[in-house]
Amino acid sequence: MSKILIVEDEEKIARFVELELKHEGNQVTKAFDGRTGLDKAMEEDFDLVLLDIMLPELSGIEVLRRLRQKKDTPVIMLTARDAVMDKVAGLDAGADDYITKPFAIEELLARIRVALKKRVVTAAPSAEEAGTSKAIVIREVSLNEESHEVLCKGERLELTNREFELLRVLMVNKNIVMSRDKLMNLVCGYDYMGETNVIDVYVRYIRTKLDDKFGIKFITTVRGVGYVIRDEK
Ligand code: CA
Repeated sequence: MSKILIVEDEEKIARFVELELKHEGNQVTKAFDGRTGLDKAMEEDFDLVLLDIMLPELSGIEVLRRLRQKKDTPVIMLTARDAVMDKVAGLDAGADDYITKPFAIEELLARIRVALKKRVVTAAPSAEEAGTSKAIVIREVSLNEESHEVLCKGERLELTNREFELLRVLMVNKNIVMSRDKLMNLVCGYDYMGETNVIDVYVRYIRTKLDDKFGIKFITTVRGVGYVIRDEK
């Protein structure tokens, strides 16, 4: 069970998301304006905050900015379609992710799961991360973060820097479905304004060099969400 705060002035949306989150076993608190939202986020320790940008009293960006001075609670911003500047401002102010309204509830739930698991990963480094060896091994593939070497069945792969970085991010976050936006942010940087289908292109390149060549299915596509590498086939 996670404690989630929804800050959203459109009560219909807030209530709908609340019901879905409760249905998944979470504890939900709502706030309908920025100031109340900020107060609640400061007072209580939430596992996640869903924060609308266009809010009365205080904007979502301002709420986030003030929250970040004190706390690193994961925040997913809710933005209007095509509000690119809002997304950039939100990420600059320290948002962990954003989702564009109107959104499919399944996508939001998937993003929330990623944000919550991501937090666990950050909090407790895996044995591979904590150890002296910088090699991450999943199934047939081993990736060495220091030597930038990727081996499959003992054979070395020739990857570009971006391909390597994308593979590394997916392997570090194994079993977590990563959205295209998230991958874009992690692989290309927050300020990268390209299309998210760039990620699809990189995945295709990696599959040509890895999956196709070695006859394995390493990167799994999760329709409507993104990609994942699972440690079991
Ligand atoms: Ca709003």
